[in-house]
Amino acid sequence: MNDFWSATRKTARFIKDAALETVWPTRCCLCDAPGFTLCPSCERDLPYLDRWTACPTCGAAFGLIQCTECSPVRLERLNRSRIPFDECSSAVRFTAETGRLVRTFKDQGEQRLALDMARLMHACIHPEWDLDAVAFIPASSSALIRRGFDHGELLARAFCAETGLALVHALDRPDSKDQRALSRAERIRNLTGRFDARPDACRRRSILLIDDVLTTGSTLFDATDALREAGARSVFCLTFARV
Ligand SMILES: [Zn+2]
Ligand SMILES: [Zn+2]
Repeated sequence: MNDFWSATRKTARFIKDAALETVWPTRCCLCDAPGFTLCPSCERDLPYLDRWTACPTCGAAFGLIQCTECSPVRLERLNRSRIPFDECSSAVRFTAETGRLVRTFKDQGEQRLALDMARLMHACIHPEWDLDAVAFIPASSSALIRRGFDHGELLARAFCAETGLALVHALDRPDSKDQRALSRAERIRNLTGRFDARPDACRRRSILLIDDVLTTGSTLFDATDALREAGARSVFCLTFARV
């Protein structure tokens, strides 16, 4: 009987997908080529960050010798004396193209792009990172209502399916203002206490925290603080794009 319902569900999904494909065919989010959410040609031309010239700590482009992002002056502006996470890496620079890709994913609801983003992020895990689990930045409740899905969780799920790493729901977000409505200075001011972390998900674990875009770093900094306070042994960060 279970087999019957499973086969029925599969058939229904197939019919729904075929109908959707007819009405709304899959197109590359950047060039409109049919049949792909991100076509091989656009994927090849993305502005990838070069790990060998990036800052080994924060992952900033061309920061290998001297990183302005990790400089004491910049950290002081963020009320920090040091970068809180162990290391961070990102797949691409945030440009008009990659910005469009991210908006198509999270604001226009092309959720299949999570698979493309996760695949590109997989290549950016540093081999020396010893990871136990993957955590994500949970969406604010206003973003959840606006989009109808938690884009961070979806990206993390796709990433775990791609890598075989375990997903943990380690962070909760006490309701806060929508960060997109804030200026850069307001974002930085609106820092403290943005996340609660669950000790049972964090204790003694080495956690990979993933997010779609690193802007000022303040979100990842705060989330890292919460994970460490809840007992995480180490915190590495990985984002799809980096401003
Ligand atoms: Zn394309
Ligand atoms: Zn740096």
